[in-house]
Amino acid sequence: MPAREAHQPITINCPHCGGESILADACARWNVETQEWELSTVYDDKTCADCGIEVSAEERSVQEGA
Ligand SMILES: [Zn+2]
Repeated sequence: MPAREAHQPITINCPHCGGESILADACARWNVETQEWELSTVYDDKTCADCGIEVSAEERSVQEGA
């Protein structure tokens, strides 16, 4: 399996509790054709659902087999 760093899976973690219950501020746009909300923009602001505060989320690469 070739190393594809660009497609390396990551998790988004809270720096306070270490959890992965991170919510990102985003904009969704209604698509009339699919009748579904489509994610339009994801902003940098992240909130930890567990801590209930805005955090600067940490990205960690997923260690497969670890
Ligand atoms: Zn947290």
